[in-house]
Parts: sequence; structure tokens; C-alpha cells
Amino acid sequence: MNSPWHYKEDTLTFDNIPLGEIVKDHPTPFYLYSLDQLTKNFSQFQEAATSAGLENGLICFALKANPNKEILKSLASLGCGADIVSGGELKRAMDCGIEPQKIVFSGVGKQDWEIREALASHPLGIYSFNVESIEELKDIARLAKEEKKRARVAFRLNPKVNALTHKHISTGFKTHKFGLLKADILRALAIIKDEPALNLVGLSIHIGSQLTCMKATEEALLEVGSLAVKISEQLGKDLEFIDVGGGLGIDYSPADKKIFTTPREYMDLVFKTIEALYHPKKLPRIVFEPGRVIVARVGMFVTRVIRTKVSEDCKFVIVDGGMNDFVRPSLYEAYHGIYPAIKREGLEKVDIVGPICETADCFATGREVSPIIKGDILAVADTGAYGFSMASQYNMRSLPIEVVLQKKSIES
Ligand code: PLP
Repeated sequence: MNSPWHYKEDTLTFDNIPLGEIVKDHPTPFYLYSLDQLTKNFSQFQEAATSAGLENGLICFALKANPNKEILKSLASLGCGADIVSGGELKRAMDCGIEPQKIVFSGVGKQDWEIREALASHPLGIYSFNVESIEELKDIARLAKEEKKRARVAFRLNPKVNALTHKHISTGFKTHKFGLLKADILRALAIIKDEPALNLVGLSIHIGSQLTCMKATEEALLEVGSLAVKISEQLGKDLEFIDVGGGLGIDYSPADKKIFTTPREYMDLVFKTIEALYHPKKLPRIVFEPGRVIVARVGMFVTRVIRTKVSEDCKFVIVDGGMNDFVRPSLYEAYHGIYPAIKREGLEKVDIVGPICETADCFATGREVSPIIKGDILAVADTGAYGFSMASQYNMRSLPIEVVLQKKSIES
């Protein structure tokens, strides 16, 4: 997957525009997004599914990765659906033109008002409530009856696999709060059989985020696929879909490139695994909930150097963006490339830090960069996913703005 930025000699460009030009019109720090890149990423993901034999797939973009309105409108125009986890995300998705019948609702803490709004979104409600507990299933049944609706539901399976990713974003192990264990799902079929307000249409998983190695994904696909077959046998009807969740990672760092899985390799794995379980029967529809792989490369976080500071062996570059604006390095010790708007001759080792009163407020430690001085502009790469959406106003700071470049013209 390529990027919207590259150097033209020593000048960093984004969508072919020198970053220095873009900065003239916007106060730092800000997020910068490319809708051209977004379209490319979405098309690449969709084409990978189609070429692997999953042409009937439904791509539900995980809004939590980036709920920017321009991004969502663009995705809606490409036929994309949404994976949501709150009433706020439901409203945002619908306001941006995403059809309720392309929306799946995940999350362990769906509240009554959120379930009601999802039921009311369309005569058929949303495409699926991805149910994470039997208690939630009963709540949905109660609310659907009150609203005189039939809720489309899918069980989210906890496949008890250990996804090799940061522990904060691993979600498919038995000690995690997500999903239902297989035995509980099989028990819950009795509730479904006796309850006309519930329409069981699918089965889902989501085992974690930033997955680059596919071992746990393969195990989880086998679990969900074989359970889907078993449920169909027990209910005497085929499930409409299997939702394989999101989680496909990107290569943030040079080291990630060694274990990186492309969308095409991922789709081949999904097809091969599910097809083997269903053969000779037709595959159910496959639903995807990608976030990061669609939007991470779409964005850069642009920040200005307030000053530099030397303390014995340490050189600090203090920038005006902080962990409140972009939290991934502090929260997950995530690596992000950081590039100056103008490269100078030579290299030096620096710590790039924000102004927040926490030692964790650090974008990079011991990073080799071309020499940096006060006033320079730096861009943090691959920040389109879990960037602005996780920003806060910690230390009473303003939220960063978002600048969206649409096909070579600048708009905020
Ligand atoms: N689906 C669910 C239920 C999630 O919780 C998440 C993120 O954690 C995603 C999809 C998107 O994951 P990613 O951005 O890694 O594709």
C-alpha cells in the first residue's frame, strides 16, 4: 500500500503539494488527510476480496478508526458500510450517507437508547447487532418487541485465540470481555428459536487490531466457520453471513515489513478457510470490519517545533502536538515515521516530545533525523487511524483540527 507523501528532493510533499505550502493556511498541530489515498486503499481492499472469490462481501468500515465526516462521505459514495460501537457513531454514519442496512453494531455495552435508535434507523433496522452476551440478547429482544420490530442479530464468538499484537488491542482470548464462548452461543440458540423478535442472521469475530501475523486469524476463522456450519445444522437454515471482523495491520516500521500480510493474502486466507468448511455448499456472505488498513496511511499529523533542549547526552525536540492529540506512541509504544518538511544535511539522534506534563508524552526516542531547529515543521506518518478519534483535551488543550485534501484542492 503506497502513501500520499514523498520527498521531492529535500521537500516533503503530501498529495504532491509541499507540506510547507499547506502549513501556511492552517495552525499546527493538525491532522492532514488525503481522499485520493482513501479511495485507493478502499479499492485495493475491495479488489482483494473480489479477486479472492469473495465478490459478495460487505465492507463495514470501523468508525472508531476515523469518524471524520469527509472520510465517511467518501467511503459511503464507494458503497462502504459501517461497523459502529455507539449511538454517536450510528448517527455519524447515517448523517454521512451510510445505509442502515450496511451497518453492524459491535460492543459489550450497548445501552437501551442506542439499541432503540438502531432498531428505528430503517424498517428492517440495522444489518446486524453483533451480540456480545446473553444478557444483551435478552435486552435486544425486549426492546425489539416494544418497538414492534424484528432485530437482525449475529453472535460475536470469542474464539479463545491469542492474537499476537499489543495487549491493549487483543480482543479474542477467553479472559477478554468480548464475545460469547462457543458453548454459550449453542445454549443461546434456544432463546433464538423461541423468540420471533430475534432473527439470527450471522456469526462474527474480531480478535484484535494491528495483526500482521495471521496464525491466530486462521485459528479464529476455523472456529467461526465450523460453528456457523453447526448452527445451520441445528437451526435447519443457513446463516446469511459470517463477519470476520477487522484487525488487518499495516507496516508502520521497517521491522513490520518482515511479518506484514497484504490485503490479498488476507482475503485468500479468509476464502480458503471458510470455503473448505462449507464445500460443496455456497459460502455465506463475508462481512469485513476494517479500520486501520483503510485509513492509517491516509493521514499525517503535522506539528511545529517549539524549541530544542539539550540535557547532557539527550537532545529533545519539543513540538506543539502532544499525546492528547496523538496517543498511539504513549499508549501502545507504537512506532511512527517522523519526517521534517525540509530535510537538512546530516543526521542526529533526538527524542521528539510534546508539551504535556507526562514522561509518556513522547513521539520517538533516540530517533535519527536530519538536524532540527526551532520553528521546523515535522510530520508524523500513518496517523489516519486511531489519531484524531482518540484525541482528548488533556491539559486543557484544544483539539487539533483536521485538514482534508480532496483531489488536489485544500479544504478543512
Ligand atoms: N471491529 C471491532 C469490533 C473492533 O473493535 C475494531 C477495533 O478494535 C475493529 C473492527 C477495527 O479494527 P482495525 O482498525 O484493526 O481494522
